[in-house]
This record gives sequence, C-alpha cells and structure tokens, in this order.
Amino acid sequence: MTNYETAVGLEVHMQINTKSKVFCKCSTQFGAEPNANTCVICTSQPGAIPILNKKAVEAIIKTGLALNFTINKQCTFARKQYFYPDVPKNYQITQAEPPLCSKGRLTITVGDKEKVLNLTRIHLEEDAGKLVHEIGSRKLNYSLLDLNRASVGLMELVTEPELSSPEEALEFLTELKSVVEYLGTSECSMEEGKMRCDVNVSVRHTGQKELGTRVEIKNMNSISGVRDAIAYEVERQIEVLESGGKLTQETRLWEAEEGITKSMRSKEGALDYRYFPEPDLVPFSLSDFFIDDLRKQIPELPKARKKRFIKDYGLSQYDANYLTSTKMIADYYEEALNFFKDRKAASKPLANWISTELSAKFNSSKSSIAEVPVSSTNLAKLVSLILNGTISGKIAKTVFEEMYEKSSDPEIIVKEKGLMQISDESTIAKICEEAIAESPKAVAEFKSGKERAVGAIIGLVMKKSKGQVNPQIVNRILLEKLET
Ligand code: ADP
Ligand code: ZN
Ligand code: MG
Repeated sequence: MTNYETAVGLEVHMQINTKSKVFCKCSTQFGAEPNANTCVICTSQPGAIPILNKKAVEAIIKTGLALNFTINKQCTFARKQYFYPDVPKNYQITQAEPPLCSKGRLTITVGDKEKVLNLTRIHLEEDAGKLVHEIGSRKLNYSLLDLNRASVGLMELVTEPELSSPEEALEFLTELKSVVEYLGTSECSMEEGKMRCDVNVSVRHTGQKELGTRVEIKNMNSISGVRDAIAYEVERQIEVLESGGKLTQETRLWEAEEGITKSMRSKEGALDYRYFPEPDLVPFSLSDFFIDDLRKQIPELPKARKKRFIKDYGLSQYDANYLTSTKMIADYYEEALNFFKDRKAASKPLANWISTELSAKFNSSKSSIAEVPVSSTNLAKLVSLILNGTISGKIAKTVFEEMYEKSSDPEIIVKEKGLMQISDESTIAKICEEAIAESPKAVAEFKSGKERAVGAIIGLVMKKSKGQVNPQIVNRILLEKLET
C-alpha cells in the first residue's frame, strides 16, 4: 500500500437555494406531490422558452467569490444533447465555456496540517426529472415520471485531482458544505438530494508523475459514503495492479449496503454530447458593479469566525469548532453573548449550555437550533442567573426544562417558584449545624483524618435546602465548623 499514491477529484452538484427553478417560475419546494411543480417550460413543451433566474446566477457568483474563484463576466448557455426519459426535451441546458467561475481555492485541515486545494470550476446547469420504477404484478412493470426536479438550478463544482486520501475528501466536502451553508446559496442537504457527488479515483506508483487510470463513482449521496467508497476503490485498484492486471477507465456504482463498488459502464464509448449554443437564451455579460455588490453580501465564513471566537472570546478549539459548525448556531451564540457586559466571563459557560443541554434538545427532536423554544436572550438570562449566584447550576437545569416546555423567561420562573440560591451566611450556618448534628459517623471519620467524609454532610445540607444553597459557602462554613 505504501508504494502507491492516491489521487481523487470530485464533481459536486449542489441545488441552488432559490424559491423558483432556474428557467421557469415553478417552485423548488422539496416533497411536493409528483408533478405539482411543473409548467410548459420544465415539462419541455415544444416552443416553450426558458427565462433565466437572476438569483441563481447571483448564488453561483457568491459561492465562487467565497471560494476564491475568478469570475468570468461572459456567460453563454449551451444544449448538451442526450436521450434520457427524465429529460423530455432530450437535452440539458448548461453553460458553454467559460463557466461562471474558474480557478478557485479552498483550504482544508486534516489532522494538524493545512492543505490548499485547487478547484477547477463552478458552472450553472439545470437538474433532470426523476424516474420511479414500479415493479407491478402480472409482468406489468412500468416507470413513473416526476418532473418536479426538472429545471431546478444546480451549481456544479469540480476539483482538481489533488485530494490524496479518503479523509481529505471527507474534510473537503464537510468544509465546502459549511461554507455554502453559511452563504445560504445551497442547503446542501444530502438526504434531500440537494448535494450529490461524483468521485474520481486513481492510484499510481509513488513518485510517478502522470496520474493513474481513473474510475468514476457516480451519484454519491453521503459524505461518509464518499470516504468509504474511496477507501474501498483504492484498495481494489492496488490489488488489480499488484496481481498484474490493468485498470480501465469506467464508471462504477457504490453499493452502500455491501460496502463495495460495482462496474456500471466503461467510459470508452463516451457520448459525444454535441454541445451547441442555446438559441433561446441570449449571451450576457456581468458588470463589475453587479459582482462587487455580491461580494459585499458575503458573510464572515466559518474558518474566520472560528478564529475570531477563539481570539475574542477565549474559547477552546473544540468549543469554537462546535459553535461555528453552522451559521445558525454561531448567530445564536453571539446573540446570547451580546446580552452580557463581561463577555469573556460568560463565553465559556454559555458555550457549554449550547453544546450540551440545548444541543441535546434539538438533536433528539432532529430539529435545528432555530426551532428551539428557548430564545438566545432567555438562555443568556439563565446563564447570567448562575454567574451572579442567583441560582445554582443544579437548579438551573430544572429551570431550563421549564423554559423549554413553556418557552418562558428564566427570571420569572425563578421568582415565581422561589428557586433563588440561598447565600445568606447565617441561614447556611444553621443548616450546616443541623447536618453536622445529624451525621455523627461522618463527623468522627472526618476528625480521624478521612477528609472525604465531608461529602456525606454536604449531601445532607443540599437535601435539607432542596439544592438551593450556594455550594462554595456551604463548603467553607462546613470546614470551619468541623475544624474547630
Ligand atoms: P468528466 O468526468 O466530465 O469526463 P473531467 O475530465 O473534467 O470530466 O474530470 C472530472 C473529475 O475527474 C475532476 O474532478 C478531475 O479532477 C478528476 N480526475 C481527472 N483525472 C483524474 C485521475 N487520473 N485520477 C483522479 N481524478 C481525476
Ligand atoms: Zn416550470
Ligand atoms: Mg465526470
């Protein structure tokens, strides 16, 4: 294995996040009734004329700018001809050369190493429809056609074959997805088919300059699947070469359940698509003003935001990673943090509440932080009640449950239920005295040198006060009393 190097290049299709399709006004809504979102244009009626969705072009340019691409100002569309039953017009509208974006870069981190990956292009094209194959009774096998997805706008991003391991591919897709989600230009949800990926894999002897024969694995729909398919394919290709065999350029399919790739077709008989300029869409050029305006709309991206969180809020790498994993979580965190005068003091406890209690809630309900019934202000108020000693961390968990149930204000819950922490020294001293009197065994153990015995007495104090006493004060007073 060590005598070989791996080269992987990806072609990633991302559904552009626009309300309507790229060449007509039909909705892009996922999960609609079959063929509910169709019109004469996206069902390919003869003579119907496509109209370009400006928002789709904007989304691609924004994505290109965020990934350090050069934007090509000239745009021409072309017809890519092929027969496929889910594209009734028998051609797909795609961009002619040059693509909207060429020569981009994305930095990925694998282990503790950074790697700059060169990206080849991003271009605009339309999606195809979907065939549903029904195996009916009495030899009545048939296929149903759903054109809801036909003419939905896609951006196709192609990378140079510079990924050199399954882990790098996984890291690249994760990073790409995160950048694109921050931009809002695609939802990138692989479950809904809004991000799909063709994986090109080859191996070559270490030191050999030219790349090996590539195999293309089509239509991967999970990031971990991409990683596993590359790992399998690398091993398979090495085995073929080691046993004296030859690899052929072919398209393979990933069988996720079996964990193997299977040959689908050889690439030798590759189709000639007979591209020609799309006569129904006029070529156009973009102005610098249009591009600069889009540049201004690019938000702070995940890497930069993570660095800032570490620097400004003193967060650990781990916390910053989690909090910037989606824009929604990062926004929620900063909104909550803005509530505090002393942000540095609140940053860590607030991060903990989001990454543990709150995330447990939205993970278990498979929703996102935006749908959680606890507002960022209310979570900030809760953390502030802990930090200023009004309630104990233990009581805070009970308050949090109620906030979640009723989306209510923690300050009101604490007042109404009388959950304020007891910090009054004479009250605490009295409870401590009672507890000492009731724990002769623990007291004797403590006096004979077993310091741990104090735990039992603290437990009793907590029980007597229903967890509402300030633990630091209890600790101090108990020790004072026991030592005299
Ligand atoms: P197509 O798949 O349409 O024929 P390309 O030639 O543009 O198109 O290649 C598609 C992808 O394959 C790119 O991501 C590229 O980096 C990758 N690729 C090309 N040659 C190799 C190779 N020998 N090994 C691995 N990946 C490769
Ligand atoms: Zn339509
Ligand atoms: Mg390809």
